Amino acid sequence: MKRILVTGGAGFIGSHLCDTLIAQGHDVICLDNYFTGSKQNIIHLLDSPYFELVRHDVTHPYFAEVDEIYNLACPASPIHYQYNPIKTIKTSVMGAINMLGLAKRIKAKILQASTSEVYGDPLTHPQVENYWGNVNPIGVRSCYDEGKRCAESLFMNYHRQNQVTIKIIRIFNTYGPRMHPNDGRVVSNFIVQALKNQPITIFGDGHQTRSFQYIDDLVEAMMRMMETREDFCGPVNIGNPNEFSMLELAKEVLDLTGSRSKIVFKPLPEDDPTQRQPDISLAKKELNNWEPKVQLREGLTKTIEYFDQLLKNQK
Ligand code: NAD
Ligand code: UDP
Repeated sequence: MKRILVTGGAGFIGSHLCDTLIAQGHDVICLDNYFTGSKQNIIHLLDSPYFELVRHDVTHPYFAEVDEIYNLACPASPIHYQYNPIKTIKTSVMGAINMLGLAKRIKAKILQASTSEVYGDPLTHPQVENYWGNVNPIGVRSCYDEGKRCAESLFMNYHRQNQVTIKIIRIFNTYGPRMHPNDGRVVSNFIVQALKNQPITIFGDGHQTRSFQYIDDLVEAMMRMMETREDFCGPVNIGNPNEFSMLELAKEVLDLTGSRSKIVFKPLPEDDPTQRQPDISLAKKELNNWEPKVQLREGLTKTIEYFDQLLKNQK
């Protein structure tokens, strides 16, 4: 049994990670300021004596004796991270400094949830970890992209300068139950719109692509990454390489929900990447042949079930 700190543990990804860590018999501290996460996401864990919930903001130092830290605290969807961009940068950068300082002091292993957004609007396709990216440093997405790039730099420097054992993963678009229904991300938007028989909003012409990973595949990869050999830091891409256009995604959601919604086209947001697809060769090699198992239709079906229940409960 290990003592594990999960920052951002009440969010979408963090809550699923807490579920699995608790199920495996670990002692978990879930730290969150509830900016985008909620107690509802982890309420079922509160009865466990091995689960502790702490309201805390990672921009302030925190102290606990743990063996491992998963650093996930940061708003992840454009609507949320652009709501208070200065706070987003502070969360990424000061959060990383505070958690790395803690890891150094208590000699804990620490994993950073970085993002495919460090590649910006990529000029190579698919994206390999040694691609340095094409990021607009002054654009509206930069509070997130550059914050995460700075956090990666901090992780590498704490490793080189202070020998902290670090792990960096670059997460590509992930979806599943407990995504925030109003966070504007495409999977949750399309599902909620379809379930309400409201228009499905495609931004741009819908030919832009993303590769969507189901949450369970990500959680498995995160835990395998934590177990890699000590000198392996990453960064490692974690995502599902199957690429879909937004038009294809909309049609799949319409088909699975049997909705009467019509597709409408809206302007493409600023700096919206046209293509994104992970090269996961490194993950397969280093994470014990890890690869995503859940295909889009199966994952969408589970996610639709979740949102259907959520909307019924709201009535
Ligand atoms: P989320 O918004 O559901 O979770 C983030 C959690 O962090 C929330 O519970 C939020 O309340 C908390 N948080 C935010 N600021 C905080 C602060 N200052 N102090 C303490 N807690 C704070 O998002 P998610 O999708 O679960 O993302 C988790 C992590 O994974 C993020 O770091 C995100 O950048 C990264 N990531 C997610 C995706 C994706 O597709 N979901 C893709 C790439 C990277
Ligand atoms: N998108 C869309 N309709 C929506 C929400 C998003 O067409 O209602 C598009 C968005 O413009 C982008 C893609 O879907 O091209 C993925 O958007 P999301 O915000 O989910 O992820 P990210 O852009 O961060 O990859």
